[in-house]
Amino acid sequence: METTQRTLVTKPRNQMQVKRQVDPHAWDASKLWNVGLYQLFEWLDNSNLPSGDLDHALKRKLKTHERYNGLHSQSSQQVLEGLATAFNNWLESDDDRDNPPSYRKQWYHDSEGRLVHEEHPRSTVTWKSTAIRHDEQNHRLRLSKGDNHKSSPGAWEYILVHYEKPEHYDLGEISEVRAVWNDGSYEIHIVHEVEIASESPGDGVAGIDLGICVPAAVAYPDEAAIYPGNTLHEDRHYFTREEYQTEGGNGPSNRAQRARETLSRRTTDFRHKLSHEIAETCAEKGVGRVIIGDLSGVEDDDWGRHGNKMLHNWGFSELSSLIEYKCRERGIEVELKDERGTSSECSRCGHEEDSCRVERGLWKCSSCGTVIHGDVNGADNIRQKAISVTPPLAEVVDSANGCVAQPVVYLFNRTRGFQPRHSEGSCKPKHSNSASESPNNATPEAGSPPL
Ligand SMILES: [Zn+2]
Repeated sequence: METTQRTLVTKPRNQMQVKRQVDPHAWDASKLWNVGLYQLFEWLDNSNLPSGDLDHALKRKLKTHERYNGLHSQSSQQVLEGLATAFNNWLESDDDRDNPPSYRKQWYHDSEGRLVHEEHPRSTVTWKSTAIRHDEQNHRLRLSKGDNHKSSPGAWEYILVHYEKPEHYDLGEISEVRAVWNDGSYEIHIVHEVEIASESPGDGVAGIDLGICVPAAVAYPDEAAIYPGNTLHEDRHYFTREEYQTEGGNGPSNRAQRARETLSRRTTDFRHKLSHEIAETCAEKGVGRVIIGDLSGVEDDDWGRHGNKMLHNWGFSELSSLIEYKCRERGIEVELKDERGTSSECSRCGHEEDSCRVERGLWKCSSCGTVIHGDVNGADNIRQKAISVTPPLAEVVDSANGCVAQPVVYLFNRTRGFQPRHSEGSCKPKHSNSASESPNNATPEAGSPPL
């Protein structure tokens, strides 16, 4: 089986402990970088820069340097390899404006603007597989310390990291862990191997329309599906209230902070499960190609259907990259296509209509008479942007006694996952004026603008 690398970015649960123990290593990584850079300049100035691999020469030269022992040997090697690459790039560049790598230092000034002292900033520390012990069950990592930070050299002492991981996220074999200082705290980046299916599940094409009120509408080759964000909206409502009610005069209380964290964890969890569900269904239905509507080029007047733009942009990129990851693992190709116009065009006959195109979540085509769920119409238009010819879903589903105005609704439940909600009875005739009856109450989510 083919494998690919993936990185899980997570915040340690034991941030204070991690910070205390990683800090000396992060500072030492900067110091080692500076020592290495000094050595390179010295070689360059004396015209005896070693021929061959610079990183090998650096490692040989600095192996006994005390800075080298501030980190696990592989972590030190990683710093010097990064430095050698940066230095080589500069040496080999024929652009005069390129600068050599610089020393890692920070200067601090007092209130009068005088230089008080200088310090080393925190550099990213990398641990390779032999310096990592992974307790998958308890979500713990043990990362080797540098000899200088142990009670005795050679002792097996480690930095304990208690990480968070979304459900359905398989870490498998870890090849590298990085501690990255970002905006006042450490992020733990876990680089791991993922197996990818070498064979495509089939020739089918699916189109995905992402939104806020309805996080995802999917046009599969033989089924229209809607994934409402029911629990997501409830959570957001509940935890936001919790957060406001408990906010004190001294900023967020612990309870408010916890509410915020719970909401963010549940939102991420929902996105993971949703993307997992979509990728699994695609594989089962023989889909080998998935087209996701790309919102980055969408004009303002299209936002009514999608909801708040800022919120949307934020969730969109996370959800679409999760879907992409999970599809690729299953041998499914993923493309992003500009979704401009996909909500003002009939997915069955191509008729374009700008005004009053959607009523109560339904697209009603004044040319061919098709009545279709608005988000499914969008998803199917996205699906038809594939190179291969795909028959409109309205034809496929209608001829199979289905109804594109009543897509299958998959409701999310935190313990049972996504379950189809069976619609009662058959759907109305296509040309009826039964718009007063909502197609299914999944479409107009609480608080969503009238579509
Ligand atoms: Zn039409």
